[in-house]
Amino acid sequence: MKKKAKWSNLRFSVLASGSTGNACYIETDQSRLLVDVGLSGKKIEGLFKKIQRDPKHLDGILVTHEHSDHIKGLGILSRRFKLPIYANEKTWLAMESQIGAIPTDLKFQFDCERVKTFGDLDVESFGVSHDAASPQFYVFHHEGKKLTLATDMGYVSDRIKWTVKDSDMLIFESNHDIDMLMMGRYPWNIKRRILGDQGHVSNEDAGEALAEIIGDRTRRVYLAHLSKDNNMKDLARMSVQQTLEKHGYQIGEELGLYDTDAEHPTELITV
Ligand SMILES: [Zn+2]
Ligand SMILES: [Zn+2]
Repeated sequence: MKKKAKWSNLRFSVLASGSTGNACYIETDQSRLLVDVGLSGKKIEGLFKKIQRDPKHLDGILVTHEHSDHIKGLGILSRRFKLPIYANEKTWLAMESQIGAIPTDLKFQFDCERVKTFGDLDVESFGVSHDAASPQFYVFHHEGKKLTLATDMGYVSDRIKWTVKDSDMLIFESNHDIDMLMMGRYPWNIKRRILGDQGHVSNEDAGEALAEIIGDRTRRVYLAHLSKDNNMKDLARMSVQQTLEKHGYQIGEELGLYDTDAEHPTELITV
């Protein structure tokens, strides 16, 4: 007998994304998690209001790496609502001086290439190449659904592609347009950092990587961590779309490309 299809109750909203601050909210009926707190505590609370959720109900905060656009409000939010923080050992060491004192009972270790279970939500961590102590991102598994969050990748390694392959939805880095970056006002050493293997993924490279990652069940890709100076939403979307179409994908109802914003949360959506 065929099993009746069940509604998933895995939901998420990208609260904010970009070089000015990152935070992503993920929930099921049993668990509520936040990944990164790259904005002030006050701003984060405002973003939670916009999706009709309250940070005091969070089960924990997962940290990707110690750059300030990911941990700016971390200490404040954790202390205010007594929220457990999860990060790997090297990230804890690198960020401790920046986030203020965290009580021991709120400090947890979440190592790279591990799976942790929060109620009915399994979270898998994977390492990325980026100029931080030990950056890691996450894949969320719930009742057969797979949601990937992957930004701040210097480049998309085969290992990452394999880990995030055939996700139902992805929040995926599309940081800069190479021409805008090259012609822009950034000094050469910064340009070199962004373009390098430990910097950020360009629109062009995001499209090429996604062409290998997207599978039959992939419905939505949210383009994330866009540079304020070296990218534009339309440009990122067009560039990724063109690359995907070159590889035979059709962008439309079955597979959509979506924006994220530096200041406004994406609609809380069911995966
Ligand atoms: Zn970073
Ligand atoms: Zn970042």
